[in-house]
Amino acid sequence: IEQAAFQNDKLAMLGKIAAAIAHEIRNPLTSIRGFIQLLNPFLKNIGKEEYGRIILSEIDRANDIIYEFLNSSKPSAPMKQKVLVGLLLKETTMLSESEALMNGCEIHNEIFDPYLTIAVDVKQIKQVFLNIIKNAMDAIHEKQDGRKGRIDITARLEGKYALISIKDNGKGMQRATLSRLFDPFFTTKEEGTGLGLSVSYRIIRNHGGTIHVDSQLNEGTEFLIYLPYVE
Ligand code: ADP
Repeated sequence: IEQAAFQNDKLAMLGKIAAAIAHEIRNPLTSIRGFIQLLNPFLKNIGKEEYGRIILSEIDRANDIIYEFLNSSKPSAPMKQKVLVGLLLKETTMLSESEALMNGCEIHNEIFDPYLTIAVDVKQIKQVFLNIIKNAMDAIHEKQDGRKGRIDITARLEGKYALISIKDNGKGMQRATLSRLFDPFFTTKEEGTGLGLSVSYRIIRNHGGTIHVDSQLNEGTEFLIYLPYVE
């Protein structure tokens, strides 16, 4: 246990340093972005506007990574409050609904126990659900086999835990992907940061919970999130 505590201290320290550096990198990035935009007319004149577009989108990508990283390395002692799982899931689903509609996929929400309660940092846990739902939509979007995209969200009591399942009928995963899923910066997407799931994993672990994943290539993926249940 002592070893673990020491590791945690070290991690917290590293997180602080990294967050400070990330913060400092954002300022020069912002000015580079501004000047590239000023150069745009020039690039257009010499027929190289494509270069400007690439530079801008790469700067934006770097900024996204820093933004997510800063979010994930903030002091992460959860501010816990008691909430109904059903309510939390409903609110999160609502936030994803318009994007789901654009992706042509349906989100189904079924809560088997309306009084199922957990004590969590609402903001952090919502972020976890949103990350997983977003990934599900991406997996559905990338599949494109004409089958209607569908995400099923359920919650029930399982022993001492509230078990939340988020299941999609998207493209599924190869075994190699499955084994690296939670590694920071691991991504198979052109525009991905590979931070969503590593951050989610850490948040759930900080809450005394776990995440399991089941996936079948070309069939779909199910994320199972266990969070301690409270009376
Ligand atoms: P990102 O979404 O930026 O790539 P994540 O950490 O959220 O980063 O996800 C890492 C990788 O895990 C994704 O690039 C994708 O390959 C895989 N993945 C995550 N969720 C799913 C899913 N529901 N279906 C298929 N692949 C998934």
